[in-house]
Amino acid sequence: MNERRIYLDYAATTPVDDRVVDLMVSLLKDRWGNPNSLYQIGRDAYTTLETAREEFARLVGAKHPNEIIFTSGGTESDNAALIGITTRARPEGGHVVVSAFEHHAVLDPAHHLAKLGYEVTYLPPRNEGFVHPDDLAAALKKTTVLVSVMHANNEIGTVQPVSELAAVAHEGGALFHTDAAQTLGKVPLNLAGLGVDAASFSAHKVYGPKGVGALYLKRGTPFAPQLRGGGQEFKKRSGTQNVAGAAGFVKALEIAVEELPAETSRLTELRDHVTRSILTTIENTEQSAMHPEKLPNLAHLIIKGVEGEAMLLQLDAKGIAVSTGSACSSGSLEPSHVLLSIGCPPELAHGSLRISLGRFTTVEDVDYFLDVFPPIVQKLRAMSPLYAKMFGSSAG
Ligand SMILES: *Cc1c(COP(=O)(O)O)cnc(C)c1O
Repeated sequence: MNERRIYLDYAATTPVDDRVVDLMVSLLKDRWGNPNSLYQIGRDAYTTLETAREEFARLVGAKHPNEIIFTSGGTESDNAALIGITTRARPEGGHVVVSAFEHHAVLDPAHHLAKLGYEVTYLPPRNEGFVHPDDLAAALKKTTVLVSVMHANNEIGTVQPVSELAAVAHEGGALFHTDAAQTLGKVPLNLAGLGVDAASFSAHKVYGPKGVGALYLKRGTPFAPQLRGGGQEFKKRSGTQNVAGAAGFVKALEIAVEELPAETSRLTELRDHVTRSILTTIENTEQSAMHPEKLPNLAHLIIKGVEGEAMLLQLDAKGIAVSTGSACSSGSLEPSHVLLSIGCPPELAHGSLRISLGRFTTVEDVDYFLDVFPPIVQKLRAMSPLYAKMFGSSAG
């Protein structure tokens, strides 16, 4: 067995940075008080929590700390935004627009709103991998209450023109939410500048702990709390706060923001190296999305005539972790809704490969992957009736 372990799936989750672990351990020991208690032990925890909130607001460009609500992660933030905003802004029913390639944490609440009687439009992105503001303008109705388009797509890595989209939504009288789980710490972010009303974040995509997230709700945005109880988080999200988790999240974000300029150029170079090498050394491969605005750390390719799952397992046997869009988390064999939404034919969507790099990825890791990968493709293509049918018998 191969001893080497190479992680190239940072878009799925990231290891927790040691600096974050150290801070969290010390807070779990020393700041275990309930931040809602009035005595000193509680007040200390409160100070830690509120300092984290202020710092988070500053780092994402929110105008007021109380626009930041700590949650249990990206999924909770997305659910709360979609359902909480829509049902409070238009309890009588109305129209909601979400892009067709949203994360399931947005799509599923949208399905739920449809069941509640709201009209939902799943807006298709252009084939390059982005939602065009004109398409959004055309989709709006008088009754549109909320538009949700993600900041960057987690599968193909394209960054969306969020400030233009938010402006279009506002012109049409709708509110705008963006799922920014993939851009936080990777793309400079200024929420007030983007002009969004709500945004979702997740700590474990940015070297923080799992089970921690945040929801930005611009002051005045209508919102019905989805967790009711003790009234914590400005009555918007009840439950005793995860003080060490929130502070760990903010520490992780501080580090990411500080390292962002250097990491962006390092990762962009590595990403382009991976993409170029695969496209030139393996025939019948292509990039899945041509939109030039992309996450610096993510390469997404179509390897024609190969099953994504087969590639993943063969790479795993060599100690390399990557992702394929060919199956969703439920393990179904449906082709990815993201690739279908950008016009990728199902038979090609099955051969998709997502390589996402991060803080601990080295040139050696990438080169090892680039050594190991072409022979795997060759072997799988040689056994593939699909490949033979598509390109004749020559397995390249
Ligand atoms: C990871 C992710 C989520 C879910 O976040 P969790 O913290 O895992 O619940 C939502 N949206 C996007 C775009 C993501 O990448």
